[in-house]
Amino acid sequence: MRRYAITQADLEAAIGDRWLRRARERTERFRQAGRYEEAAGIWSEVKDVYVQLQHGKCAYCERRIGTDPVYAGELDVEHYRPKSGYYLLAYHPLNYAVACIRCNRGLKRDEFPVAGTRMWDGEDPRSMRAERPLLVYPIGEVDEDPAELITFVGYAAVPAGSSERGRRTIEFFRLGAEAERDDDLVTERARVVRALYMANELLRAGRMVSEFGDEIAFAQSPAAPHSQCAASFQRVCESDWGQAELLFRAAGDFLRSKGLL
Ligand SMILES: [Zn+2]
Repeated sequence: MRRYAITQADLEAAIGDRWLRRARERTERFRQAGRYEEAAGIWSEVKDVYVQLQHGKCAYCERRIGTDPVYAGELDVEHYRPKSGYYLLAYHPLNYAVACIRCNRGLKRDEFPVAGTRMWDGEDPRSMRAERPLLVYPIGEVDEDPAELITFVGYAAVPAGSSERGRRTIEFFRLGAEAERDDDLVTERARVVRALYMANELLRAGRMVSEFGDEIAFAQSPAAPHSQCAASFQRVCESDWGQAELLFRAAGDFLRSKGLL
């Protein structure tokens, strides 16, 4: 997971006044009814705003699905706080993110574990921190930076320090190394580690410095898949080359065990 920086004003400008007006009308109806109830939602109309903001990546696993409209069906607009319970947040822009089908429909569904007290009537995520959500929300600055809660040892996601939220988020979305995700999440991360190590190796040898420098910088940028895994590994490359080599070899062993190297 990584943060996608944007202000609420910029997010709302990208969404547009027309949709926001309709969203406010619907929220007002839910308020009067005391619950979420409508025949069909309109959040899919703003999906592309989040697809572009997140560079076509899943909010939780950082797999890149793509920004091309052909991939639209493989990313869902996910309600961080489920609309079924948090009826006043069904149309709040800071309650949305796009997530892959595996993370959203397979794992998240309508769940929202908290360590604090539920605020079912909350209408602004920024004033609902007392709920102490266990999962992390990556859009804007409404929540903690995921990079401070989750880090990586080679291709494996681990909690940063002793972060309970990090641990629970990894467990919930099965982001760890041994996870049975039925997808290529860990394989992709192992390839990121391998590619980054090789780029560093060539850079250290003084080969095409600007080309490999660009590779290393891009791998850690918001547009790159598994950018937080790359950023963690790059820190190791710059501080402990011997350890980087061990992690590179471990990624190779993992790929070999899958018949992919
Ligand atoms: Zn995902």
